[in-house]
Amino acid sequence: MIYDFLLDPAHHGFKTWFKNTKKNNRPCINHINMPTRMLLESINSIDHQHPCIKHFEKKPNWPCLTSKDFMPKNPCELSFPLMIGGPCSLESKQQLTQTIHQLYPITKYIRAGIYKPRTNAHQFQGLGPAGVELIHDLKQTHHFQLVSEITCPSQIEGMSKICSIFQVGTRNMSNTALLKALGQTDLPIILKRSLSGTYEEWLQSAEYIIKAGNPQVILCERGIRTFEPATRNTFDINAIPYLKAKTNLPIIADTSHGTGHRHLVAPIALAAITAGADGLLIEAHPTPLTSITDANQALSIEECSALFNQAQALVDFLESNNT
Ligand code: PEP
Ligand code: MN
Repeated sequence: MIYDFLLDPAHHGFKTWFKNTKKNNRPCINHINMPTRMLLESINSIDHQHPCIKHFEKKPNWPCLTSKDFMPKNPCELSFPLMIGGPCSLESKQQLTQTIHQLYPITKYIRAGIYKPRTNAHQFQGLGPAGVELIHDLKQTHHFQLVSEITCPSQIEGMSKICSIFQVGTRNMSNTALLKALGQTDLPIILKRSLSGTYEEWLQSAEYIIKAGNPQVILCERGIRTFEPATRNTFDINAIPYLKAKTNLPIIADTSHGTGHRHLVAPIALAAITAGADGLLIEAHPTPLTSITDANQALSIEECSALFNQAQALVDFLESNNT
């Protein structure tokens, strides 16, 4: 009966969101877009030979839904490499209009923080609801896809009207209430690694989103805290090939927060692409020195465009050489 369910979900009342094929004569989920707990329970109850379940039994805490056995292809409905650029924080209409105009020929994905998770409670916290309004107005006249951070489940409703991709910031990687709430949306979620998060903990956070029903998780390496004070963080390039061997979730690189210094952003971004990153998340500002937040790491829009062009050329070269 459960085999029937896996082979013919539509017949059992589920939309044909996920199709399955047979791999080694066992049902194999190719595309998950349904409450995954139900799916996991179904598999759990029928097929203890499923490699994912066997792995789970051997090491009960190891991430399961994000494994290649369980999710044999990238579940995100976006095209890669994904290039996302724009200011750390949304400051004004003029700031974003200029960013969109200059970046649009290269990418339609524009980042701009509206709710900012700041270390210092006394500093600019983002425009908040006024920023949501501003984007709403701008969308009447400009075409762009907004990528912005959600810091609290109550923001999801308003932000889902203006965002194409949500971001979970470093400080919230383990905020399980937020992860579960985002798992109930159908937008792709960029999940940033926390300052001291291990690969396993990071994937466990992705499991929360997927288990709640949203498989479209994009991992984002943004540097970790180490003993080195010269750079804001240490960009962990190992994370990219390591995770690409473990999971089919895409992984992008934020070398702005990963380095904290404008002159390091591009070289490390190109290194990340060489290591296999599926895209970049870069802070750029029309007048970087005046940026209200993260001015030290902001590129100009021209520098950001040049970086995206170089990164795309590098991806093309690597693909044509099959590396
Ligand atoms: C950001 O993207 O502006 C940001 C706050 O990033 P992180 O969560 O990586 O610190
Ligand atoms: Mn920032």
